[in-house]
Amino acid sequence: MSSEQPTVLLVEDEPAQREVLAYNLEAEGFRVLRAGDGEEAMMMVEEDAPDIILLDWMLPNISGIEICRRLKTRPNCRDVPIIMISARSEEVDRVRGLETGADDYVIKPYSVIELMARVRTQLRRVRPSTVGVQLGFEDIVLDSETHRVTRAGKELKLGPTEFRLLATFMEKPGRVWSREQLLDRIWGRDIYVDTRTVDVHIGRLRKALTRHGGTDPVRTVRGAGYALG
Ligand code: CA
Repeated sequence: MSSEQPTVLLVEDEPAQREVLAYNLEAEGFRVLRAGDGEEAMMMVEEDAPDIILLDWMLPNISGIEICRRLKTRPNCRDVPIIMISARSEEVDRVRGLETGADDYVIKPYSVIELMARVRTQLRRVRPSTVGVQLGFEDIVLDSETHRVTRAGKELKLGPTEFRLLATFMEKPGRVWSREQLLDRIWGRDIYVDTRTVDVHIGRLRKALTRHGGTDPVRTVRGAGYALG
């Protein structure tokens, strides 16, 4: 699974509504995980680290608000944007008042176009390389839409895996990524790839980045992994 395809966790108990929304999200290029209730949603968050969560207010057993509150207290989930979907505007007022930590709110019936725009706004904040923007780091510029990478104005040729690695690094310069985290993000969990494969592609990325000169911006962090800068 490519890192350019953001994963949306959709939590909605009504199958018809869930499928319509999932269909639209998939048509927009998102990978969609479906959950019918809170317990399922909490499990999927652990297993699959979604990039964004669309959370219905009215759910069986645990309410959407309560799920939102629980997710936002987890360290591994705090930065994942949550958009709450609710049936009435009074509910949205309550969500705001309750300070659940939701990042945005949409009222049913919502327009799909509006919802997509909100999803993109949230993703632009946390996963900019997935929504068609330019990322910059020192003299390196990566355009996620045209897949062009330049350094000091000169175009660099990168393979698809090297491009994804660089996009991941450029989203969070300075962050140290373990080999396992890079495997999850670049190759996905479904495919068995040895961690040494990561080293091979890091080597290729370094070669591509320094082809026209300049220092190697990729840092090896002993016993931890890799970082940009
Ligand atoms: Ca519902």
